[in-house]
Amino acid sequence: MPAKPLRAIIHVDMDAFYASVEQRDEPAYRGQPVIVGGTGPRGVVAAASYEARAFGVFSAMPAQRARRLCPDGIFLRPRLPVYREVSATIFAIFREFTPWVEGLSLDEAFLDVSASLRLFGTLEDTGRLLRDRIEAETGLPASVGMAHNKLLAKLASEVGKPRGFVCIAPERVASFLDPMPVARLWGVGRKTAARLQAIGILTIGQLRVADASLLQGVLGRQADHFLRLARGEDERAVTPERADKSISQEMTFDTDITDPRELHAILQGQAEDVARRLRGKALAARTVQIKIRDRHFHTETRRRSLRFPSASTRTIYRLASALLDTWLATHANTPVRLLGVGVSGLEQPETAQGPIDRLTDAIAERHGADKITRALALGRKRR
Ligand SMILES: [Mg+2]
Repeated sequence: MPAKPLRAIIHVDMDAFYASVEQRDEPAYRGQPVIVGGTGPRGVVAAASYEARAFGVFSAMPAQRARRLCPDGIFLRPRLPVYREVSATIFAIFREFTPWVEGLSLDEAFLDVSASLRLFGTLEDTGRLLRDRIEAETGLPASVGMAHNKLLAKLASEVGKPRGFVCIAPERVASFLDPMPVARLWGVGRKTAARLQAIGILTIGQLRVADASLLQGVLGRQADHFLRLARGEDERAVTPERADKSISQEMTFDTDITDPRELHAILQGQAEDVARRLRGKALAARTVQIKIRDRHFHTETRRRSLRFPSASTRTIYRLASALLDTWLATHANTPVRLLGVGVSGLEQPETAQGPIDRLTDAIAERHGADKITRALALGRKRR
């Protein structure tokens, strides 16, 4: 039987996305430690420039801690509408290369370019064209990882950061993966890594050649799955989002979040953002959903429908918050890697928006979305 032809997968991830946009738009910030995030007492770092990372500042870190680590840093509020616009530009470029685009966040996606190679050349040629297009059109740096599957492409873009450009040829898979710590594999969390360490397995290479029965004892049913990953095998397809009309907002944290109050505050900001965009399009939604990904990359979406379509921040947040609570009830202390809110079933509303939403929209338009979001999120926490 002839071997299946190898796929051509690209993982693109913008470098320090929000911070890079700020440095692009304000020359005085270039070469400086820029930290984007909530500036209030309970604010969280959303993005840190590489200059700030040198001080040990990372995303999802409390802003107060970031201030201690980097007192001379430039602390900025996020300008989500600007980032979203840049994101739309980047994704439009992705779709010029292939319709098979799977967005992971505003600034990160998988592309299956298998069918595009006859237009663009080799996988590496395609990746280079893509990176150059992004840089030419947005003025922003991206890291690009290329390989024949998602696992390898993502690891390739990670090791190259910032401005990474790494292509893993099939014959280089073992030499690429073997020296990495096992925790780099998807689904290997702290507990699994500790159990592997207890039997002397620290690297992916050691896992790959480990005795199968020994692994079975430690990993149980998952042993085969992890062995496949250690060999660099990953059959998952790149799945483009459905054309289904929806509006959503989600965020991947560099450091997993466990504190329910923090999760609720983030969710509130996202609900506010989604509702504002909904109102901006003069639409209302029938269904609200949340998306949660835990540290093991298990992704869950939960949705609930409204009796009447709504574009009210309060209504959307209430429902999203209730959905999060039901998840938390069975997942206490589970570190969360990604959280998002989405609405679908969009239609023209029958009643006009409430006075509070009109006011917040006006303030947001004038002073930036973050100011109002922050106030709402903080208000909830103090209660
Ligand atoms: Mg990024």
